Amino acid sequence: MTVLARTAEVTRRYGDVVALDRVSLDIHAGELVGLLGPNGAGKSTLINLFVGLRKPTSGTVELLGGSPADPVVRRGIGVTPQETGLPEALRVGEIVDFVGSHFPSPVERGELLARFGLEDLVRRQVGGLSGGQKRRLAVALAFVGNPRLVFLDEPTTGLDVEARRSLWDGIKAFHADGGTVLLTSHYLEEVEALARRVVVVGDGRVLADDSVQAVREIVGVRRVTLVADELPELPGVISTERADGRVHLITADSDRLVIDLVRSGVPFSGLEIQPTSLEDAFLAITAKESAHVA
Ligand code: ADP
Repeated sequence: MTVLARTAEVTRRYGDVVALDRVSLDIHAGELVGLLGPNGAGKSTLINLFVGLRKPTSGTVELLGGSPADPVVRRGIGVTPQETGLPEALRVGEIVDFVGSHFPSPVERGELLARFGLEDLVRRQVGGLSGGQKRRLAVALAFVGNPRLVFLDEPTTGLDVEARRSLWDGIKAFHADGGTVLLTSHYLEEVEALARRVVVVGDGRVLADDSVQAVREIVGVRRVTLVADELPELPGVISTERADGRVHLITADSDRLVIDLVRSGVPFSGLEIQPTSLEDAFLAITAKESAHVA
């Protein structure tokens, strides 16, 4: 498989903060990879290194067989950073044409806007767009240069369900045509809806790199929900959260937890055991890693 982007043993520090700690990651042609992790995990730093906005403190970053520092290499990629500012006075169509003019074979304006459900806005000034429309335009612009590889940093944050779905459709269409995508997200459903491969990042390190399914299976945690006032210390509980008058416990061994709970003699009711979400799996991996480090 052709590697389109690669970090090898990359460390990036900001002063005393180690944002990335010896990260090695390959993105292959045709992949749609979801980068998942909590705030501060190092996701944006990783994207910024790939697209040449930052340099590694140590290690190497390769992009399309060259260096991200090379503007000619960068012409082969598309990027939507977390924050974008578009000129308010320009019309949507004008911005698409302007950005497209920087690339040798841009996507035709009407086609690009249609892909992202923006065709009705072609004559609108950017200043008059809603936040969600601006965000969709910013993401669409990552695709205007007919890139081989696209980096999207939290593409759908702040969008309503409908806007999110039309963005997903645009991203999926690009991928179906053979395009390669690395996107970061807080939305688990987004990673599940789009990506086959998930890279879980925490504290600047890659904690898991596998299919969505496999990440779940590796961890195999359960969510145990019940109503109880006070709970004793229960072994094997990865996290405890109280919400809506119920207690939510995450554990890798729900059978053991229920036995311990009954043995403790604490009154409880409404016991439910559910399969994990990706978020639960993520919490468990992070907890395991910190236990391992400690
Ligand atoms: P994420 O995108 O996963 O939220 P970031 O890559 O933004 O994570 O941040 C990783 C770590 O690096 C955090 O601790 C963050 O505070 C720190 N960091 C990121 N950018 C800077 C910067 N420009 N200056 C100092 N610290 C930074």
